[in-house]
Amino acid sequence: MARRKKIYEGKAKILYEGPEPGTIVQYFKDDATAFNAQKKDVVDGKGVLNNRLSEYFMTGLNNIGVPTHFIRRLNMREQLVRSCEIIPLEIIVRNFAAGSLSKRLGIEEGTSLPRPIVEYCYKDDKLGDPLVTEEHIAAFGWASQQDMDDILSLALRVNDFMSGVMMAVGINLVDFKIEIGRVYDGDFQRLIIADEISPDSCRLWDIETGQKLDKDVFRRDLGSLTDAYTEVARRLGVMPKNATQITRPTLIN
Ligand code: UDP
Repeated sequence: MARRKKIYEGKAKILYEGPEPGTIVQYFKDDATAFNAQKKDVVDGKGVLNNRLSEYFMTGLNNIGVPTHFIRRLNMREQLVRSCEIIPLEIIVRNFAAGSLSKRLGIEEGTSLPRPIVEYCYKDDKLGDPLVTEEHIAAFGWASQQDMDDILSLALRVNDFMSGVMMAVGINLVDFKIEIGRVYDGDFQRLIIADEISPDSCRLWDIETGQKLDKDVFRRDLGSLTDAYTEVARRLGVMPKNATQITRPTLIN
């Protein structure tokens, strides 16, 4: 079989040319990075879990009419997605204070916010993805006013969907990050959810205990990241019964 052409390799995923024009194969690696890749490790099974979880969330969004790039899962680590032009913004939605918002504004982590807060960061690793305002976005032409209206509406719909799905399994969606892509259908262009939605890009706290079930487990050395993501997948009924055994053999003594 001919080798596939690699299009791009990022911190957690590799993109390959897809089988048909306009498609891309998204491969989920086990690599975990934090603090702009200053902290790095390989977490066995993370890619498998994120592939499944992102499939689950993106399929749910597609089903309620929120367009995403997701087409279908191909295997344990790969999914077929629609190719799109990524808008160079990270869209962050917050329901509770945490992370950089808590630091920046001195609000205690876990404080419930009076309404969802949407923030925009300019996607540039060299600059550390700085927070930007709509003024910057308009002035530098990263997105039009129409795009910004659509992005806000998509972000809030993703928030409502994800919050509900998580609450149903006893988890608070504290915050999350999404990326948005532009696709062209003939003369029309529209925006869709791209990249991934997984515990790598969300903060997920158990409602009862406050236990963190997201990438903060890795960022803050709070235990096993695989166990945390497996717990999210288990609660959502996402992983097939023996899938964790495939990725992480259990030792019997
Ligand atoms: N986030 C992400 N990628 C980034 C920055 C943030 O997925 O490059 C997610 C992060 O996991 C969290 C949310 O966006 O769920 C808000 O992150 P925050 O701004 O608090 O930054 P952090 O504290 O993670 O540096």
